Amino acid sequence: MMPARSQTSLIDRLPSVRGRYEEDAPLAKLTWFRVGGPVDVLFHPADEQDLQLFMSEKPVDVPVTVLGVGSNMLVRDGGIRGVAIRLGRAFGQIDVEGLTLTAGAGATDISVAAAARDAGIAGLEFLRGVPGTIGGAVRMNAGAYGVDMNDITVSVRAIDSKGRCQEFSRDALGFSYRHCAVSEDWIFTSATLQGRMGNREEIAERMDAIQAEREETQPLRTPTGGSTFKNPDGAKAWELIEKAGCRGLRRGGAMVSEKHCNFLINTGDASAADLEGLGEEIRRRVLEETGITLEWEIHRLGEGSDNSNGPRLKAVTS
Ligand SMILES: Cc1cc2nc3c(=O)[nH]c(=O)nc-3n(C[C@H](O)[C@H](O)[C@H](O)COP(=O)(O)OP(=O)(O)OC[C@H]3O[C@@H](n4cnc5c(N)ncnc54)[C@H](O)[C@@H]3O)c2cc1C
Repeated sequence: MMPARSQTSLIDRLPSVRGRYEEDAPLAKLTWFRVGGPVDVLFHPADEQDLQLFMSEKPVDVPVTVLGVGSNMLVRDGGIRGVAIRLGRAFGQIDVEGLTLTAGAGATDISVAAAARDAGIAGLEFLRGVPGTIGGAVRMNAGAYGVDMNDITVSVRAIDSKGRCQEFSRDALGFSYRHCAVSEDWIFTSATLQGRMGNREEIAERMDAIQAEREETQPLRTPTGGSTFKNPDGAKAWELIEKAGCRGLRRGGAMVSEKHCNFLINTGDASAADLEGLGEEIRRRVLEETGITLEWEIHRLGEGSDNSNGPRLKAVTS
């Protein structure tokens, strides 16, 4: 007879915190695509000190992943090993002083845009169109209409893998197109942003126009992850995808949006493998047609359902 193996569950090895742990937590409902497997443990820190304590005391071999609201994320069907940290309402504070706003990493970009409008601060209107959190916006250098986080960020507070806190100036963040150069093991906890003096009604009008334009041009009522691929130098990803004949292309329950062909949508029963496989098929067709290799903008995380890092193969239909 085989000797019984002693099994200490991950949660028993984690430090005692004031926040909340959830074991085997489903992530599909926490991402915009509504797909993906569970994480071993989901941690909701009570506040920044709680997060610091967790990071300083957790076993070093436990991998950590940070989640915003999952609007730029594809979690694979096998889920995520280790701990995922969700900075929720406890990190949602927004403080305004003059033309400066300090927002917790869990504050939504839309609520920050609204706070700036209410304070008569112009220059942050683009955040009205980005459905993520401030933490996700810093990590992705989110932007739209020719403005991005690099243009409005003064500094960002962050915690490293040992629980140490540091303030990064805008220049130290190394922002470039949809990228921040700070290593992935830093967790952003808040950002100080700056705008310019503006007129409240004019700011509100610009935000309304952004919202209306988004409704018109993006599949906002369907589960999606926003722009799938970065725009290559001197080209637009959607134009290349169109040229390669991929508008409306399907794989299982995943589909290239008819409304905006750089958006993938979950038509109802897509798996993460369907979505990732469709993305890879688009990359293959675009390369064949145009000679350009598209780079994923969406972050793909976790394991495939067969424990591999990637999609299972299934038929593509056009
Ligand atoms: C309909 C739609 C429209 C969109 N339009 C735009 C647009 O106009 N411009 C644009 O730039 N993007 C756009 N996006 C993409 C997305 O909203 C942005 O990238 C957003 O900044 C992601 O924020 P999030 O909180 O959802 O991050 P998530 O998707 O949860 O995470 C994205 C990445 O950031 C990391 N991350 C999240 N929080 C933190 C943190 N606190 N510390 C460290 N790392 C963190 C995650 O680990 C992950 O790697 C759109 C998405 C959708 C669905």
